[in-house]
Amino acid sequence: MMEQYHQIKKQYPDAFLFYRVGDFYELFEDDAVKGAQILELTLTHRSNKAENPVPMAGVPHVAVQSYVDTLVEKGYKVALCEQLEDPKKAKGMVKRGIIQLVTPGTLMNDKPSEAKESNYLTSVVTTKSCFGLAYSDLSTGEIYATHLKSFAAVSNELLSLRTREVVFNGHLNDQDNNFFHKANITVSEPVELTGKHAEISFAEQDLTNSAEKAAVKQLVGYLLQTQRRSLAHLQVAKSYEVNQYLQMSHTVRDNLELTASAKTGKKMGSLFWVLDKTHTAMGGRLLKQWLARPLLSVEQLNRRQEMVQALIDEYFTRENINDALKGVYDLERLTGRIAFGNVNARELLQLAHSLNAVPTILTAMQKAENKNLQNFASQIDPLKGIAKLITDTIVDQPPVLTTEGGLIKDGVDSQLDRYRDAMNNGKKWLTGMEQNERAQTGIDNLKVGYNKVFGYYIQVTNSNKSKVPLDRYTRKQTLTNAERYITPELKEHENLILEAQTKSTDLEYDLFVKLREEVKKYIPALQKLAGQVAQLDVFCSFAQVAEDNNYCRPHFHTDNQDVKVVLGRHPVVEQVMKAGSFIPNDVKLTEDTDIFLITGPNMSGKSTYMRQLALIAVMAQIGSFVPADSADLPIFDQIFTRIGAADDLISGQSTFMVEMTEANDALQHATKRSLVLFDEIGRGTATYDGMALAGAIVQYLHDEVGAKVLFATHFHELTALEQTLPHLKNIHVGATEENGKLIFLHKILPGPADQSYGIHVAQLAGLPRKVLRQATKLLKRLEAQGSNLGPASTQLDLFSSSNEPAEELPVGAKSDSASELTDKEKDILDEISNLYLADQT
Ligand code: ADP
Repeated sequence: MMEQYHQIKKQYPDAFLFYRVGDFYELFEDDAVKGAQILELTLTHRSNKAENPVPMAGVPHVAVQSYVDTLVEKGYKVALCEQLEDPKKAKGMVKRGIIQLVTPGTLMNDKPSEAKESNYLTSVVTTKSCFGLAYSDLSTGEIYATHLKSFAAVSNELLSLRTREVVFNGHLNDQDNNFFHKANITVSEPVELTGKHAEISFAEQDLTNSAEKAAVKQLVGYLLQTQRRSLAHLQVAKSYEVNQYLQMSHTVRDNLELTASAKTGKKMGSLFWVLDKTHTAMGGRLLKQWLARPLLSVEQLNRRQEMVQALIDEYFTRENINDALKGVYDLERLTGRIAFGNVNARELLQLAHSLNAVPTILTAMQKAENKNLQNFASQIDPLKGIAKLITDTIVDQPPVLTTEGGLIKDGVDSQLDRYRDAMNNGKKWLTGMEQNERAQTGIDNLKVGYNKVFGYYIQVTNSNKSKVPLDRYTRKQTLTNAERYITPELKEHENLILEAQTKSTDLEYDLFVKLREEVKKYIPALQKLAGQVAQLDVFCSFAQVAEDNNYCRPHFHTDNQDVKVVLGRHPVVEQVMKAGSFIPNDVKLTEDTDIFLITGPNMSGKSTYMRQLALIAVMAQIGSFVPADSADLPIFDQIFTRIGAADDLISGQSTFMVEMTEANDALQHATKRSLVLFDEIGRGTATYDGMALAGAIVQYLHDEVGAKVLFATHFHELTALEQTLPHLKNIHVGATEENGKLIFLHKILPGPADQSYGIHVAQLAGLPRKVLRQATKLLKRLEAQGSNLGPASTQLDLFSSSNEPAEELPVGAKSDSASELTDKEKDILDEISNLYLADQT
């Protein structure tokens, strides 16, 4: 057996080999040692007495799924090795083989909590000129493909997709390896394919780019090799280009908390959390996909908006659709299971019930006044035939197992009905026999019973033993207080009954498989229907959210980049606050203003204001309505952010390095059509250093890029830039003092903030009076210097000269200004500025 084991293990060196022995899957050798530790199994040994006993650990076959899930979720692979013949019938060694290789990218989790998650397997190929990338969610069979210029773009795509596994054909250098390791992505080798595969030609039929084709081929090849089962649900790959959509790096998505809160990593507190009022898992997944790829086409956006508007206007239509959607199961994943052939009778019924909900949806839409709703309805095929076929065939409450009978309705198959008759007649005969025997023997409590070992028997209690007609009865089994007998007649009927039963169970299974195969023919139609239902679900969700939260329909213009949001709100912050307490703010970035320089104390609402605009832009570009009284928006091509101070754990860079990398990304790639949010850039380094960089960055964005920029800063000195940069405007978040307390108004006001709030915040924090007094004195001095020769005016001069060589700026600034202060003064200043800067959240 170990010889066979080694032979199989050799082919799957990087996977845990689950080797089936009877009712267990066994792990051997290193797999056993490592597996026992991870899965908390008892480690035993095979051939204990031998010199080198083999380490071994086992799991019961009925519970194997949870062990496999645990390993694969941790990034390992599992090869399931089955007995391929009945051990009782096998001559010699039982034949075994791998029936499936479960990997992180092909794991299909049925946990309800993950119904709205997609698990993407990604394939990347390197060609001479570019990278081809393709990905698929095996549970639904969708495939997407693109080609990208750089490895940076590839890694961004991988992170944005949250892919767990990538099939990669190139050579990895240390840096690449490092990236995959830190990003927790399993890298798998492509498999070698021999011959033609229909699944591959089918999937790549619409592609024209050779890199994309190669990526899809590699992807499907890997799926075929690992799954070793029917993949009839794999869809035709859809080609996309990242610049067809509003582009955001994965850090931007994370920073904006589009699908998960940055603090908890959970849905709650994210934009998805606000927008997701979908009723089906497919709707939830589609909404996530839309959030990942906001659109650029006004035409497409208008189409989405039309649907949302219609569903807002026609409340009853929406309610009827919503009610019906609640009865729709995960059609996409059910379809996947149908393709794999592991769907059971209950799931087929779920499919039928889902399909039965569709006509209700269609009626609601057809009755609607809106033409778009009617048109949408006319494109939907409710597939009534399949629903009927299933409900006509399967009983109302079928068992989970498909092999034990009890699945198929009476009247479906005449042979099955005959078997059932035979069984019923047999059972009737048994009841009759019990009565006859009681009468003949005079034993009142004589019983006919059945058990698996002895079959049918006649049971007589010990007290009546003497009355048993031993000429006819043969004793079979003795219990403590009864004896069991059989008769030739009884055995004859037993045979008839059991034979009918076996045959009927077998026949039921065959009929079930036939039904499953019949349904399989409709996979493409089911997938299309699932997609339509998902869309409708998202539209209803948008309508619901818009109505509940008083959103407005944004208007787009393409002739300029003006932003006009009236009384906009932050969609998430307003949800977690008491109703009505969020202070709305306008954003007016028109022709003569590209940059808002935002000042104001910590906690006043600067970053909320900035994120609010980005979220409104994203919401608008996925077709949702937005939290504002009105919104007149351009189409943004990209969003860049530099928010927060969290280290980028994946690339392992320091805070300041991350800050600069993100800033650089914006400076290099932003266009006039982009939106840039910079929050406190330059805080990760020495004050003057940071200030100088921040100033130079603003100026570059102003002069060279021309994007719409919200730039929050604690460097008050930068507000002087307004005098030299015509497209920059100062704004600040208002605050006021009441009884010695600082009150944030959260209202955006024109002009720079009053500088002295830092000291107020310090006062709130309870710093010693002495420090506060000294700080106030220092501040006065610094302000006074600012008006003649001090550091502030030095900065002002520097920022106002745009054509001086950059390297001369910070150095001069630093030495000049530092020399103005004594050491003690510097310490105090540091302390105050630390407080001022401290993130109080
Ligand atoms: P800053 O970036 O200035 O430090 P934040 O934007 O993080 O401040 O805001 C701090 C807190 O103030 C938020 O968590 C929120 O509770 C509150 N806040 C911000 N903006 C508003 C607003 N417009 N209306 C009401 N509360 C707000």
